[in-house]
Amino acid sequence: MLTNIFELVYLRKARIEKLDWERMVETPSVADLYALLPGRTMQAVGRRAKWILVTLDAGWTLAVHLRMSGQLLVQGPEATPRSHVHLVLALADGRRIFFDDERKFGRVRLLDAAGLRALDASFGPEPLDPCFTPGVLGQVLAGRRVKIKVALLDQRIIAGLGNIYASEALWLAKIHPLRLASSLTQEEIARLYSAIRQVLAVAIENQGSTLRNYRNSYGESGQNQDHFQVYDRRDAPCANCGTAVMRIVVGQRSTYFCPTCQPEV
Ligand SMILES: [Zn+2]
Repeated sequence: MLTNIFELVYLRKARIEKLDWERMVETPSVADLYALLPGRTMQAVGRRAKWILVTLDAGWTLAVHLRMSGQLLVQGPEATPRSHVHLVLALADGRRIFFDDERKFGRVRLLDAAGLRALDASFGPEPLDPCFTPGVLGQVLAGRRVKIKVALLDQRIIAGLGNIYASEALWLAKIHPLRLASSLTQEEIARLYSAIRQVLAVAIENQGSTLRNYRNSYGESGQNQDHFQVYDRRDAPCANCGTAVMRIVVGQRSTYFCPTCQPEV
């Protein structure tokens, strides 16, 4: 989904056109952001965990966390930002990047190389990275006496897997969400590894899923919510066995599973 932004902003100099919610800027100070960002050239857009990383020239990186309701939208010069747009970056060709964030939980950091390394080091492996293998998954779960559903949502253990996909992956791997991470057998870890890769691949193919307000950078909604097997399907028949899907709350997050396919051993 981010390649859309990448194509549009590549090699365009940025300046700050609007910033009316200064608390979104975690680092540096707002004054320093105004001093350092204008004129920077955007070179690439990537991601680490749930941070969107815009690589700028001179070793800087603009990191954006959308949190609950944030959206990054690429707009033409004629677009008027609605009141929920708290940051507007204007590009040299007249396009603007809107950070639309109704609930104001989104955050922005301008990082130097050391800051970027620290951000990177604070997260576990990325499940779609080529270096992520069943062995790596086994290593990060080894000895973790926490529920597997909780472990999968802990970004320090494994990065970039959200609540929906944790439920979906555990269903696909036939693992009960309350099992301790440390109790998984090698075979279960191998199944979970494949399941994580599979649910994320399908999600990307269907362009995202956040139920209420997901939009890609062109403002189009995702389609993936039509493809859930258990998430948000309480009492619906399991696609595998027909048993009614159950909902429980684990670590304060809704968790869906099939009590037949995912027995709590
Ligand atoms: Zn089932």
